[in-house]
Amino acid sequence: MSRRRQVYEGKAKVLFEGPEPGTLIQYFKDDATAFNNRKHGIITGKGVLNNRISEYFMMKLGEIGIPTHFIRRLNMREQLIREVEIIPIEVVIRNYAAGGIVKRLGLEEGQRLPRTILEYSFKSDELGDPMVAEEHITAFGWASVPEMDDIIGYSLRINDFLSGLLLGVGLKLVDFKLEFGRLWEEDDVRIVLADEISPDSCRLWDVTSGERLDKDRFRQDLGRVEEAYQEVARRLGILPEAGPRDLAGPETLQ
Ligand code: UDP
Repeated sequence: MSRRRQVYEGKAKVLFEGPEPGTLIQYFKDDATAFNNRKHGIITGKGVLNNRISEYFMMKLGEIGIPTHFIRRLNMREQLIREVEIIPIEVVIRNYAAGGIVKRLGLEEGQRLPRTILEYSFKSDELGDPMVAEEHITAFGWASVPEMDDIIGYSLRINDFLSGLLLGVGLKLVDFKLEFGRLWEEDDVRIVLADEISPDSCRLWDVTSGERLDKDRFRQDLGRVEEAYQEVARRLGILPEAGPRDLAGPETLQ
C-alpha cells in the first residue's frame, strides 16, 4: 500500500493511483466521523465490511444496468475503481422520515413519506454540506440538466432495487446517500454511480424490531456498532470468511 501514490484521503476512504491509467484503488478505513467531522471514532473491521458490502451492491446494480465506477475487489480493504470526476453533490434518497428531515420539518421519526423524496447537498466541508435545490446545481453548473436527469433516474432505480433486495433480508431502507461522477471515455462522457453504498451511507432498520443496523449506532452512541455492520453483511450472505474476530485484517493491510 505504501508504495502507491495517494491521490486523495477522505474521512472513511483513501484513494491511490491504480495499476492502469483511468483506474484508482479505493481503500476502506475503520475511521468514522459524524456531525460534520465533530465526532471521530474507529469502528473495528468497518473498512473490511464496507468494502465487501459496497462491492456486493455495486455488482448487483451493474447487473440491472446501472453504470458504476466499480471494477473489482482486490483484497479485504481495497477495490479497483474507474477514475471519475466527482459531481460535488450528495444525493439523499428518503423513503421514511429519519435524521435531518425529522428536525427540519417536524416529522415523526419512522413515518412513511408520502412518496420517495430526493434531496441534494453541495459537497463542502467548509460550508458543512449545505442543502441545495436542483436550481442551484444547474445554475452553478455543478451538473447539467441532462446529467441531473440521469442522476435522478438512476437514484430512483437504485432505490427501488435496493429497497426490495434489503426487504428480502428483513431490512428497511429508510434513507441513503449516493454520489455520482463523470466517466470520460474517448470523446464520450457519461454519469456513473461512484463512492460507496454501505451502512455508513444508509439507514437500515430491522423490519420487525426497528433496530438500527447502520452508522446511527455510532452517531447516537447506541453501542454494538461493529455487530450491526456484521449483521448487515451476514444477512446479505457476504460475511467475510475470516470471521468477526479477524475483521481488522492481516497486519499488512492495515
Ligand atoms: N448521509 C451520508 N453522508 C452525509 C450525510 C448523510 O452518508 O454526509 C446519509 C446518512 O447516512 C443517511 C442519509 O444520508 O442515510 C440522510 O442522512 P441525514 O438525514 O442525517 O442527513 P442530513 O439531512 O442531516 O444531511
